[in-house]
Amino acid sequence: MEFTGVREKTLVIIKPDAIQRGLFGQITSRFEQKGLKLVGVKMTYLKQEILREHYVHIADKPFYPAVEKFMMSSPAIVQCWEGLDVVNTVRLITGITKAREAEAGSIRGDYAMSVACNVIHASDSIENAEKEVARFFAEGDIHDYDKTDYQHVYAEEERNK
Ligand code: ADP
Repeated sequence: MEFTGVREKTLVIIKPDAIQRGLFGQITSRFEQKGLKLVGVKMTYLKQEILREHYVHIADKPFYPAVEKFMMSSPAIVQCWEGLDVVNTVRLITGITKAREAEAGSIRGDYAMSVACNVIHASDSIENAEKEVARFFAEGDIHDYDKTDYQHVYAEEERNK
């Protein structure tokens, strides 16, 4: 059973605040229930070097040192999810950066109040997703397997697009 149309991948980081608050399972369930496929996962202490690369677009902002400190404050869980248009889908489920104004029903809208401590990171474009997956996962840590429920999650023409 080869589903050719659903190979797009995105990176999610379950941030230290979510781990501390016991939200890992509930957040992960949101992605599972949506029909996405988990192809990579690991728990890790994020290091300064990788964070500087990952957050290069905000590295010169006055709030950056605090973001770095927060992201290194306890372990994070890094996930790679796969699905049709998954980058866009996961951004929609994530909600906007300022969590207390994020749409109800989104992960940030339902679980967070802060701009900095906004429970998850999600890649914001296909190009960045490819770079981020490669940054946080070795090739052998991304798993290719058949997800049998795809025949019910997608229509045939979507699976093979
Ligand atoms: P997003 O994570 O929604 O893609 P950005 O890429 O702009 O947002 O910012 C990366 C992360 O930096 C945010 O998720 C948040 O944790 C933190 N951050 C962004 N803006 C601020 C801010 N004004 N004050 C404090 N932290 C911020």
